Amino acid sequence: MESALTARDRVGVQDFVLLENYTSEAAFIENLRKRFKENLIYTYISSVLVSVNPYKDLEIYTKNHMERYRGVNFYEVSPHIYATSDNSYRSMRTERRDQCILISGESGAGKTEASKKILQYYAVTCPASDQVQTVKDRLLQSNPVLEAFGNAKTLRNDNSSRFGKYMDIQFDFKGAPVGGHIINYLLEKSRVVHQNHGERNFHIFYQLIEGGEEDLLRRLGLERNPQHYQYLVKGNCPKVSSINDRSDWKQVRKALTVIGFSEDEVEELMNIISSVLHLGNMQYGGDDGGSACITSDTQIKYLSRLLGVSGTVLTEALTHRKIIAKGEELMSPLNIEQASAARDALSKAVYGRTFTWLVNKINGSLAYTDESNKNSSVIGLLDIYGFEVFQYNSFEQFCINYCNEKLQQLFIELTLKSEQEEYEAEGITWEPVQYFNNKIICDLVEEKFKGIISILDEECLRPGDASDITFLEKLEDTVGSHPHFVTHKLADTKTRKLMGREEFRLLHYAGDVNYNVNGFLDKNNDLLYRNLKEVMCMSENKILTQCFDREELTDKKRPDTVRCVVLSHPSSSSVNTLISPGRFDEVLIRHQVKYLGLMENLRVRRAGFAYRRRYEIFLQRYKSLCPDTWPNWQGKLPEGVSTLVKHLGYKPEEYKMGRSKIFIRFPKTLFATEDALETR
Ligand code: ADP
Ligand code: MG
Repeated sequence: MESALTARDRVGVQDFVLLENYTSEAAFIENLRKRFKENLIYTYISSVLVSVNPYKDLEIYTKNHMERYRGVNFYEVSPHIYATSDNSYRSMRTERRDQCILISGESGAGKTEASKKILQYYAVTCPASDQVQTVKDRLLQSNPVLEAFGNAKTLRNDNSSRFGKYMDIQFDFKGAPVGGHIINYLLEKSRVVHQNHGERNFHIFYQLIEGGEEDLLRRLGLERNPQHYQYLVKGNCPKVSSINDRSDWKQVRKALTVIGFSEDEVEELMNIISSVLHLGNMQYGGDDGGSACITSDTQIKYLSRLLGVSGTVLTEALTHRKIIAKGEELMSPLNIEQASAARDALSKAVYGRTFTWLVNKINGSLAYTDESNKNSSVIGLLDIYGFEVFQYNSFEQFCINYCNEKLQQLFIELTLKSEQEEYEAEGITWEPVQYFNNKIICDLVEEKFKGIISILDEECLRPGDASDITFLEKLEDTVGSHPHFVTHKLADTKTRKLMGREEFRLLHYAGDVNYNVNGFLDKNNDLLYRNLKEVMCMSENKILTQCFDREELTDKKRPDTVRCVVLSHPSSSSVNTLISPGRFDEVLIRHQVKYLGLMENLRVRRAGFAYRRRYEIFLQRYKSLCPDTWPNWQGKLPEGVSTLVKHLGYKPEEYKMGRSKIFIRFPKTLFATEDALETR
């Protein structure tokens, strides 16, 4: 039999807190690499699960595996997403506390797959009744629908989620899933009108075109050729080998029915999707005065029918802007460029709001209505884009990275807090650990009246000469002296070389990112001319009338575009996923270890005690190593453990006895005990 030591040499440690050299990034990565080589893609940092994307199907998600992780102790089995799922579930059941699982990582790292696996685990292992079966089906079927409308092929991931998702799963007092709720945020609407080379628009467009039934396409006025549509040709890749749009359409169509969409609703939904394609194909020409006019009325005819609006009114709204001067309404003509921008803004607004409507509709079907059952608890799943740093970073990256900054704050607070709480509950004294609190960066972004978002909002509402550049200048005036903020003008010579004049740099907890201010004002405004909103409010399409509310027209307030989910759940676990292109790419992994703040997290975990175990579990496992505790210890548990560790030669500084657990300071102490067990 292989000795424990060589096994550890080969497959590394299954919990990073057991690393001897826990401050060394090299040792951290070496441990990941060893495990990855053995197809062990999961490793813990205490209650945090770190996962490396294998990019191949591993036989570790079978029903047998689910059973294996059910109800067993976290540390007794090898790390797995099911163990994390099960642990949260049991904490929810036994402590009656809501739980939250945060999933973070770069695009393509495997976050969405992880959240699906968690959901599947609950769907299979939790108790069920007939009514619950419906909820389970709907929960599972909501995925293909959300992915059709919210995912797209990117350079990184053929099925990349282009929105953040927070999903609550509700459980009744018996622990059966009885409902759910989804919050979506930051949908990448710009993708509707533009895609980078090698990328696609949202899946649903291609699914509809490739898979839609003949008579449906006829009704929608669509051709079965994605190349025909301006909004689908920008990335120049209509077909993706890993995607079958036609069969995906069938699946989505079925899922919509399972979730409870009526035939009429599906038809209206598709009316909207096809309208966006028609909008994209609209041709503008200019008259002598440079004003835009629509050169062919083909698209207007379709749009008018599909959206249930008057063609004349729509035509005017797409080529004019309503101005209110001295109490009078004037229609001011747009030039071609302005008209195209207005059209694109409409497409984005229509798509974005329809997506939100869709999520609300799904929520309606997952809603838990039994008021008599007050004892329900919740497990929340947060699937968020990780930090995004590109060559060129814009408003979208600013929002995403701000969200991550908030998440990091929450994460550190939760891990530190729970660590602290445990020491307190167990009556153990410990030295608080120093860590970087990124609150200072969150404040820089969000502080009322003087944070970046406030300044941006102010510039957006300021009439006159407000522009992206005046916004940048205002930033320099207001937050220029902040230690985490730099611009070209303010930078030292070395940094200046790395920055454009239209950029500001934020020193995030995870690293420095330059943001180009171009487009910040428009994107924050979500610029949609009033008269286009009015036309949408008049639409006979029942979905659109729910998306465009008349009240919005009388409300001068700008809708919030920078939204961040605020989590109020008291207890959490976390899954950090790392991308790996099939083989273990050290540079890529190292980068992500940094951006996910894993070393810092490990440091925090290790600051106190590396390992802790409940007395009964500790005694059960090692009792054979001491004649006084073998075969059974008759007295009190702590005394048994005390006798055992004294016999094993633990020194007083190596461990502490809590109320229900033993705390072991160094991994080597526990290793020695494990080895003794192996070589006994
Ligand atoms: P993210 O949501 O982080 O952008 P995804 O969850 O969509 O990434 O994963 C991207 C791709 O990686 C998936 O389509 C799948 O091919 C692969 N993948 C992710 N997780 C796993 C896993 N646990 N096992 C095998 N392949 C995986
Ligand atoms: Mg995803």
